[in-house]
Amino acid sequence: MIKLCHKHECCGCSACASVCPQGCISMVFDAEGFVYPSVDPTKCVNCNLCNKVCPALASRQGAVPQGTFAAHFVDDTIVRSSSSGGIFTVLAQYVISKRGVVYGAHYDDKMNVVYSCAYTNENVAKFRGSKYVQARINDCYQDVAQKLKQGVIVLFTGTPCQIAGLKTFLRKPYDNLFTMEVVCHGVPSEKVWHKHLQVIKEKYFAGFDISNVIFRYKENDWRSYKLRYVSCNNNVYDTPRGEDAFFLGFVKCLYSRPSCEKCQFKNGVSGADLTVGDLWGVEMILGNRGNLLGESLVIVNTDRGMKWLRQNADLLSMTEINLADAMPYNEGLHEMAVPHRNRASFFQNVDAGVDVDVLINEMLESNTTERLKESKNKIINLLSRIKNKVVNTIN
Ligand SMILES: Cc1cc2nc3c(=O)[nH]c(=O)nc-3n(C[C@H](O)[C@H](O)[C@H](O)COP(=O)(O)OP(=O)(O)OC[C@H]3O[C@@H](n4cnc5c(N)ncnc54)[C@H](O)[C@@H]3O)c2cc1C
Ligand code: SF4
Ligand code: SF4
Ligand code: SF4
Repeated sequence: MIKLCHKHECCGCSACASVCPQGCISMVFDAEGFVYPSVDPTKCVNCNLCNKVCPALASRQGAVPQGTFAAHFVDDTIVRSSSSGGIFTVLAQYVISKRGVVYGAHYDDKMNVVYSCAYTNENVAKFRGSKYVQARINDCYQDVAQKLKQGVIVLFTGTPCQIAGLKTFLRKPYDNLFTMEVVCHGVPSEKVWHKHLQVIKEKYFAGFDISNVIFRYKENDWRSYKLRYVSCNNNVYDTPRGEDAFFLGFVKCLYSRPSCEKCQFKNGVSGADLTVGDLWGVEMILGNRGNLLGESLVIVNTDRGMKWLRQNADLLSMTEINLADAMPYNEGLHEMAVPHRNRASFFQNVDAGVDVDVLINEMLESNTTERLKESKNKIINLLSRIKNKVVNTIN
């Protein structure tokens, strides 16, 4: 029987299921709530195409960045509704103006995060904002391939592993394909996400369904963003991110996908033209020139990415910076999603009928050693900020 990559390395990109000529691979959820391929051996003809397109088995080369920028869209209304500086929307609008198509992640009517495409600026709006759950690819890779062959300009945006999966699935480069990856901390379990939504729904919305979650709800300063939950009858529940159990468990990797522990695709390895993330530490890097509503970190990995960025220069406020200056403030750039020490114990209890938010908070309670480590990290961070500020002032 055909053997796919090791489960621990599988990022769930769906390239294998998308390529199988027999349609014998389905993507199914495991007990933790992560999607993996499952092969029907009775239909398999051993063609090995699934392994040929698997990004976890492909040889990889890291990209040498051609430039790093601090940037934001000049339109503040867009920046406010984007996670950081709204770079995604700048690129999407450009592609739409060329009669192209944009692929991104949005909520479906059951609050699953799924991929689909958009041909208009109005439809692109649903992709705006980070959703901290792994997005389901469904049949988007086949759809992209079809559009590329028809000569349509395609912008595909997503996590580095999903971009790597698309590239290996396509098996050849296309001049009309543009790709933008997000800096990626890792993705949490979809099962935990739905359990958490159930808790919020009962606790704050009297059982009414949730119709939207804004992970980065910005009021005046993006650095103090909150989470906003919206119910189908338009009630709203806001919570500081430091008090939202799901967000805390995500950040502390209590229920991250196993492949994120040794991510093979970050930092341009996926082949993405641009890598886009948050420019944390903006006040140290740009002084008071950053946008209070959000500033993006943009790493250019290809000539095409640089050309594309320059073509949109009139819509962007952009400053060239040193990648090394941004690194200390953004763990997603260089750290792996090391599982929390209570991950196994969390998953042993998650189906026991307990309130998942209570369980998350219990599991995250830190012991003395961890508290000491956290304080040490805070001090290192503070010292690094002070050092940068001094260097910036001298320069
Ligand atoms: C799971 C995840 C983890 C992240 N971790 C970090 C991090 O550690 N450090 C950091 O600097 N930045 C991280 N980001 C990226 C950051 O939050 C912004 O998405 C990015 O800076 C783009 O912001 P924007 O303002 O340009 O546009 P936005 O309008 O915010 O762009 C949203 C873009 O993200 C895509 N997207 C949203 N949710 C998903 C999803 N679940 N899966 C795939 N694509 C998605 C949309 O399709 C769209 O292309 C992460 C994003 C995600 C989705
Ligand atoms: S070997 Fe071929 S037929 Fe079998 S699962 Fe893989 S792609 Fe499908
Ligand atoms: S192609 Fe993607 S989903 Fe399939 S085995 Fe490889 S990593 Fe997993
Ligand atoms: S950390 Fe790596 S493997 Fe995990 S979702 Fe992000 S890109 Fe994919």
